[in-house]
Amino acid sequence: MSCASPLIDSFGRTISYLRISVTDRCDLRCRYCMAEEMTFLPKAKLLSLEEIAIIAERFIARGVTKIRLSGGEPLVRRDVVELTRRLGRHVGATTGPRLDELTMTTNGTRLREHAADLAAAGIHRINVSLDSRDPDIFRHITRHGDVAQVLDGISAAKQAGLAIKINMVALNGLNENEIAPMLSWCGAEGFDLSLIETMPLGAIDEDRADRFLPLTKVFDDLSTKFDLTRDDHRSGGPARYWRVGGSDARLGLISPLTNNFCDGCNRVRLTTEGKLYMCLGQNDQVDLKAVLQTEGVAGLDAALDEAMRLKPARHDFQIERGAAPAVARHMSVTGG
Ligand code: SAM
Ligand code: SF4
Repeated sequence: MSCASPLIDSFGRTISYLRISVTDRCDLRCRYCMAEEMTFLPKAKLLSLEEIAIIAERFIARGVTKIRLSGGEPLVRRDVVELTRRLGRHVGATTGPRLDELTMTTNGTRLREHAADLAAAGIHRINVSLDSRDPDIFRHITRHGDVAQVLDGISAAKQAGLAIKINMVALNGLNENEIAPMLSWCGAEGFDLSLIETMPLGAIDEDRADRFLPLTKVFDDLSTKFDLTRDDHRSGGPARYWRVGGSDARLGLISPLTNNFCDGCNRVRLTTEGKLYMCLGQNDQVDLKAVLQTEGVAGLDAALDEAMRLKPARHDFQIERGAAPAVARHMSVTGG
C-alpha cells in the first residue's frame, strides 16, 4: 500500500474524520458520562502535544479532512490552544496536506477565556454540551456545574464568530421537558441542536436504563410542535438532520440505540494515551504511541493500514436494566 493512499476499511468505508481526546480529565462530572469518583490517567501517560500533532498530520496526509478535538474537557488541557494553532495551519491550505475543518466539542466552562484564540487558530465551528438551561437541573446533571458560566461561554463564542451547535443528551425524567424549549432557543440564537441518546460506555454510579429516552419518541413529540423537514446534510456520522421551519436552526438526531447508521461510518478515534479505536463501542485498537516511539513516523502508515483492517462493521449497543456497559471505556477516554 502506498504511503499516502486513502484510508479505506475492509467494508469499503473511507475514513476522513479523526476525533482526538486530548485529555480524559474534566471539570464536570455529568452523571451519564462519568462516575463521581473517577481515576484519570497519570499525566506522564498522555500523548504530548508534539505526538498528537505528528499523528494528526499523518492522518491528514492520508486523506482525513476533518478533525475534532474532544475529551474529557479539551479546554482543561493547558496546551490545547497551541495544538489548535498547529493543526489550524492545515485548514483550507492551498499547498501541502489540507484539512477542511478543525472543530472542538467542549462543555463551555472555559469558553469565555479561549473563544477568541480558538477562532483565530482556524476553528470555525464548535459543539457545546448543554443538557439543561435550568440552573438546578444543570447542576444536578453535571454534579456541580454552573449553567451561567456555560451560557456566558457560549455568548463569548458567538461574539468571536464561531458557529455553534448545542449537544444535548436526552435524559428521561431530567431534561425531556426542556427539549422543545431548547430547540426554540437554538433557533432564536442561530445555533444548531444535536440530540443524543445515552450510550452504554464505561461504569457510572447509576443505571443508564433509568434515564434512557429514545429519540424516536422525542422526534414524534417535536414533530407536533415544529415544522421539521428532512435535510440531506450528512456528516458521515451517526446523525440525521432536519430543518426547523421559521428558523435557520438544524436539528440533528444521534440515535445509536434506536437507529444504527454504522454502515456510513467515516471516523476513527485517538485516545489521550495514543491508542486508535476504530469504533466507540468496540475494543479493537492499534497503539499509535507505541509505534511512534519504537518506529518513528515511518511506522505510522503500516499501523494505520492495520487499523483499517481491524475496523469493525458496527457497535452492538443495548441499554438494558442491570446490563454491563458495552465497553469499559468512558466516552471521555475515547473522545466523544
Ligand atoms: N467535555 C466535552 C463536552 O461535554 O462537550 C467533550 C467531551 S464529551 C465526552 C462529548 C459529548 O459526549 C458530550 O456532548 C456529552 O454529552 C456526550 N456524552 C458523554 N458520555 C455520553 C454517553 N455515555 N452517551 C451519550 N453521550 C455522551
Ligand atoms: Fe465532562 Fe463532557 Fe463527560 Fe460532562 S460529558 S463529564 S463535560 S467529559
